[in-house]
Amino acid sequence: MRQSIRLGSFAGIVIGVNWSVLVILALFAWELADYVLPSQSGSPSGADWVAGVIGAVVLLLSLLAHEISHAVVARHHGVVVQSITLFLFGGVTQLEGEAHDAGADFRIAAVGPATSIALAGVFGALQAVVASAGGHGLVENVLSWLWKINLLLAAFNLIPAAPLDGGRILRAGLWTRSHDRSRASVAAARAGRVFAVVLIGLGIVGLAYDGLIGAWPAFIGLFLYSAARGEEQYALIRGSLANISVGQVMTPKPPAVPSRTTVSDLVMHYLWQYHGEAIAVTDDRGYLAGTVTAQAVRAVPVERRATTTLAQLVVPLADTPVARADEPISSLLERFVAKSGNPVLVLDTHNQLVGIVTGADVQRAALWTMGRPQGVRR
Ligand SMILES: [Zn+2]
Repeated sequence: MRQSIRLGSFAGIVIGVNWSVLVILALFAWELADYVLPSQSGSPSGADWVAGVIGAVVLLLSLLAHEISHAVVARHHGVVVQSITLFLFGGVTQLEGEAHDAGADFRIAAVGPATSIALAGVFGALQAVVASAGGHGLVENVLSWLWKINLLLAAFNLIPAAPLDGGRILRAGLWTRSHDRSRASVAAARAGRVFAVVLIGLGIVGLAYDGLIGAWPAFIGLFLYSAARGEEQYALIRGSLANISVGQVMTPKPPAVPSRTTVSDLVMHYLWQYHGEAIAVTDDRGYLAGTVTAQAVRAVPVERRATTTLAQLVVPLADTPVARADEPISSLLERFVAKSGNPVLVLDTHNQLVGIVTGADVQRAALWTMGRPQGVRR
């Protein structure tokens, strides 16, 4: 999910919103002001609109708290958290890596709905306090809406269908039973696809009765379907790569070329004996500076190759994932995703460069090894 507006960061986790979040903000503010709050005349007053907007913003903050709780527990279990993004259908927490055991997987998933339930409790208690202090209709109504919708969010997220939290909880349970993470992921993702189809069906019925607003479940269903399909594919690939090491697929001993080298010099002098799809680049002092991909080199027009240096094409070290040769390549997948597919540098225990792995290398390995896990029909 692309972050359109960066809100800031919390404990090193980049927090942002996609522009589509404005749609739900507006929808909820409108729902609140128009349907929930007007008590006397039936049409919303200025105060109703102000309360509607505040209520919608507090709901978004509740969503954010839900996601931050996933991030905090993930980090506690040693899983690197990349970013949190709020968008049209809620929030996503982008993890760079996976839980090492089913227990951690369960806790990372379960804390989200638990947070939403806790927030529902807080808003409910606040409503009771306001009511006992004499009551204020508008404030009470907003608080009542907030606890109900947080409870609804928790309930929806607990449905056992990936990528919902309930799907992750299901995965953790199956993982505990079968000791096979990939099979558990595939089953949870399949449940996700079934649930998505049910939502799409509900949306079609809703469209017939209520028009576009009734079709809302279908939009959520379409989103969940594609996410569940992606997860299933990913789990299958991951399962097939679990027994192959980085050392087996890497291009060994890649040349390390100074960044001041021009593209034409690179092509003329360095690449004839080399079959990898990325090379390492060093700075003026000889230190590793990053990688340059064959794709980036190909994109330079022929007439500009004599004047374009590798420094202009380099993927800097900060955006370059690293790995050890004895790691399974399945563990590289998240690093590829997190660093938008940039090549992985393989370092030895002295942090010397021993190889380089590109997405194409992993794809090639998957192509040869991918099969159906036992017991899963597709
Ligand atoms: Zn969640």
